[in-house]
Amino acid sequence: MDHVVELREVRKEYKEFVLDGISWQIPKGCIMGLIGPNGAGKTTTIKIIMNLIRADGGKVSLFGLDYRRNEKEIKNRIGYVGEEQYFYEDRTVAWTGRFVSRFYRNWDTNTFSRLLNEFQISGTKKVKELSKGMRVKLSIALALSHNPELIILDEPTAGLDPVVRRELLDLLRKISSKNKSVIISSHITDDIARTADYITYLLEGRISLIEQKDELLSNWKKIHFRTGTLDNGISSSFFNIETSMFGSSGITNSYLSIKDDLAEGIRKEDIKVENVGLDDILICFVKGR
Ligand code: ATP
Repeated sequence: MDHVVELREVRKEYKEFVLDGISWQIPKGCIMGLIGPNGAGKTTTIKIIMNLIRADGGKVSLFGLDYRRNEKEIKNRIGYVGEEQYFYEDRTVAWTGRFVSRFYRNWDTNTFSRLLNEFQISGTKKVKELSKGMRVKLSIALALSHNPELIILDEPTAGLDPVVRRELLDLLRKISSKNKSVIISSHITDDIARTADYITYLLEGRISLIEQKDELLSNWKKIHFRTGTLDNGISSSFFNIETSMFGSSGITNSYLSIKDDLAEGIRKEDIKVENVGLDDILICFVKGR
């Protein structure tokens, strides 16, 4: 499989935080969602991919190229929306577009105008007059107007209203259907669940899990069962068993492999299987087994 990003055993050490053993591949044409609690290292990982900070160890390659020799080439093929937007505040939106265009060989003025139109941002507005959401939208328009092969978005939906959030997610899906790749980190896991093909969980500077979203959600289920009815071997593999209205409940990460045993060992009326969300899975990781 073609990979647009390949990290091998990447390490970054700060005084009070270590990102370590990060081996991560982003397949071409897919949307990778990056999830993790505050301070897990998501932005640090993204900044390493963007070469905004240097890793202390490991290997980083994009499109099969490395930054030491091919920085310009790589940057021309990436669109990046960071956590914070830095602009020349006194300049207009149109000026900002012209300014940014000079850094990219494939800049397409028509795409930029179309996106501004879609996002309802006037080119004559000064940047300092834009609302928080409009600034994010301007960043997205700037990141997409040079026809990048890889789009990296760090918390892009945080300041956006639900309608624009949905539009952005649809836009990302459209982009990935053209064989382009997207990395998106967000605390709004509904957004990730809606768009991503793959999910990566990052915890305390390490990758806990990388999996296809559909597989992940088919395997992670909340099982409610009448207390005492479930085989101990099965229930001991559950995350945090609690008492519930039904009796007991716990989350499993291997529903597909225990499904038949469950059906055999327990009466239908004594068990209930419930879907879990990406947040529930994160909470399981954070709390531990
Ligand atoms: P959030 O969801 O809150 O944005 P995150 O997963 O993106 O968090 P990072 O911003 O990557 O987390 O930060 C990871 C850790 O690295 C944090 O403990 C942070 O304090 C630390 N860190 C980040 N940048 C630096 C720096 N320049 N110097 C020292 N520590 C840093």
